Amino acid sequence: MCSSLYFIFSLLLFSRVDCLKDPNIIIIGAGASGIAAATRLYQNGFKNITILEAENRIGGRIYAFQFGEAYIDLGSQRCRGQENNVVYEYNEEIRARWKNDVNKLAVAEDCLDVFRKWVETQEGSFSWFNIAATNSYEVCGGKLALGWNGLGYKTILDVMMQKFLDSKSPIPIDDKIILNKVVEKVLWASPDRTEIKCANGASYSCDHVIWTPSLGVLKHSYKTLFQPQLPIEKITAIKAIGMGAILKIFLHFPKRWWNDDFERIIYVWNSSDLQRSGGAFLEGPQKEGKSWITAMSSILPVPKSPNLLSAWFGGEFVPDIEKSSDETIMNGIMYTLQTFLSVDYPNISLPNKIIRKNWYTDPHFRGTYSYETVESRKLDKPQGEIISEPLLSEEGKPVLLFAGEVTNPIHYSTVHGAIESGFREVDRLINFYKHSK
Ligand SMILES: Cc1cc2nc3c(=O)[nH]c(=O)nc-3n(C[C@H](O)[C@H](O)[C@H](O)COP(=O)(O)OP(=O)(O)OC[C@H]3O[C@@H](n4cnc5c(N)ncnc54)[C@H](O)[C@@H]3O)c2cc1C
Repeated sequence: MCSSLYFIFSLLLFSRVDCLKDPNIIIIGAGASGIAAATRLYQNGFKNITILEAENRIGGRIYAFQFGEAYIDLGSQRCRGQENNVVYEYNEEIRARWKNDVNKLAVAEDCLDVFRKWVETQEGSFSWFNIAATNSYEVCGGKLALGWNGLGYKTILDVMMQKFLDSKSPIPIDDKIILNKVVEKVLWASPDRTEIKCANGASYSCDHVIWTPSLGVLKHSYKTLFQPQLPIEKITAIKAIGMGAILKIFLHFPKRWWNDDFERIIYVWNSSDLQRSGGAFLEGPQKEGKSWITAMSSILPVPKSPNLLSAWFGGEFVPDIEKSSDETIMNGIMYTLQTFLSVDYPNISLPNKIIRKNWYTDPHFRGTYSYETVESRKLDKPQGEIISEPLLSEEGKPVLLFAGEVTNPIHYSTVHGAIESGFREVDRLINFYKHSK
């Protein structure tokens, strides 16, 4: 009797110890950072994991989609770095340099507009006046625009889950992911467990939460998502860092009408083009006499997809373009193709399919990627670092941890930055358990 009691007691004791070693961890979001965190946790022996994902797919802002002959990336597509950033005194410099030559100054100003669009598309900002002239981003060495050979950026998710190239030992986290679960509330200060409440009424409790949704989601919902409220420094950081959007529109043509010399078209709109663009004949949003179509920064063929072109839009028109119909968008793009290219390409045909992903209006993203603003640079340290700081229980346990691209002060806005942030938060937990009794 005594020995069986001892056995039960030691089992309880054992499972308590085991439970401490295998805490219940919930990851919110199955994007790059969430999948990175889950795979690293699993590899380090933490198996008690659940991933709650609002969408009906994993990947988040990695969204490769079979369209036409190959995969296209509606979200992230290049393994990239970034060059040094916007110098918005540029405008003055151009004026000073060509002030005595009116014609050259006009061309320079038109080209400056191209540069503005390039910067806004690169940074995902609605205005280049918000973008900080310096930032804490560190450019990775090597090539800055590596593609995925027609397989799409989703390949990186398979690599992390060890599913790539018929791997014999995939990391089994698929059955830990629960799709279509929109987290509405994280109650993080209860003495024992953190509670999570979802939109469909489901609730979960756990020892640790790793939050990964975008800065856009934080900006929109930080007041209602967390109970108690986030500390004031975090709220300041969430407000200060920028998050706008770019828009990629893919057009599939029944027949390829361009040749191999067509690498990328960058439009330079002079003032008479602009006036024409704003005419009533071109439907869709307008601002100050300019049509939305002038927000197209470039149009280019899609690698491995012979019949596809992708048109890139950046800047203040993006939210309005997202709300426009496919027909309006297609008519506008065809207008520019015909206006600018019909001499070289008399056989431009109509596309038979068009596809886009509206990142800004999607409540699970509310933008494409974060950038440092003039405002965030005025604060004393990279604000992503402040968002990344975990919130602790009274006993000093990290109960609410933050990952995701915005929390990476040196590689924000990228997939590799998101992955690093997922790894970082798991290392934080590993460290915590290494040093706790
Ligand atoms: C159009 C576009 C082009 C890009 N181009 C590049 C590029 O060329 N190179 C590059 O490196 N990066 C690029 N990026 C950026 C890159 O995609 C992101 O930095 C990265 O994928 C972000 O990963 P994440 O895990 O931080 O966030 P996310 O991918 O946003 O993952 C967060 C997840 O949380 C989920 N979620 C949101 N709210 C909730 C909720 N309430 N409850 C539960 N789940 C929720 C979301 O659905 C999402 O799946 C691009 C992004 C876009 C959109």
